[in-house]
Amino acid sequence: ILLEADEIDDCQVRLDGRRADHIIDVLRARPGDLIKIGIINGKVGHGTIKELRRSRPRSVTATVVLEGEPPSAPLIDVLLALPRPIMLKRILTQLAALGIGRLYLLNAHRVEKSFWDASVLDEQNRRQLLLQGLEQAVDTMLPLVTVHRGFRPFIEDELPQLIRRYKQLVVAHPGDAPGPLDCYRPEPGLTLVAVGPEGGWNDYEVGSLVQSGFSPVSLGPRILRVETAVIALHALFNQLCQR
Ligand code: SAM
Repeated sequence: ILLEADEIDDCQVRLDGRRADHIIDVLRARPGDLIKIGIINGKVGHGTIKELRRSRPRSVTATVVLEGEPPSAPLIDVLLALPRPIMLKRILTQLAALGIGRLYLLNAHRVEKSFWDASVLDEQNRRQLLLQGLEQAVDTMLPLVTVHRGFRPFIEDELPQLIRRYKQLVVAHPGDAPGPLDCYRPEPGLTLVAVGPEGGWNDYEVGSLVQSGFSPVSLGPRILRVETAVIALHALFNQLCQR
């Protein structure tokens, strides 16, 4: 269960809503049971259930002990052309579970305009999906998501500052570019992986990314769905970065 630090008062926490439902219905916890607790962007530990109120409004109270450091900071960030809302929901949860530091959601020529009206872009909705992924993975490091509605302003004005954070930038493009093993740079630091829209990056976009320092990377000739490509590339580069 993930908590904000200020939800703990004198080592006690009171949970209601979705979190109480989860503890009562899914974990089937009883008084005295231990549950894993994590502070968002902070330590991990456990809670001992003291009281469960099963009738509505439901609530659970627990005594909290924080003992462990959070898992180490993620090594991969993702730059993603805004996908359709239903796919973005899944990607947010899955990337949070896999572990990323930052997700940049970017406009591109082949991103449908209507995707920008999606409720999943609302900060609170995004946060809920990220928290689900973190809870799944028993992690506490909440990824930072930023939204960039103009491709060109992002590339020209924002990227030059951001680039300093990265040892390696790769842009995923199906075809005959090198694979992850061939283009990976074994230096310490973060990697930024850019994945295009359903219709692919256009030539101007790939050219701009390459000019800004991204190396093209391919997973071969198979055309993968955006979410498959994101997850496969994350897993591959994440493994390489841990070496
Ligand atoms: N026809 C489009 C093209 O050729 O680029 C297909 C786009 S694909 C559905 C969406 C995005 O997923 C691509 O822009 C790319 O970033 C990534 N992708 C899909 N398959 C890939 C592969 N085999 N290698 C690298 N990236 C891939």
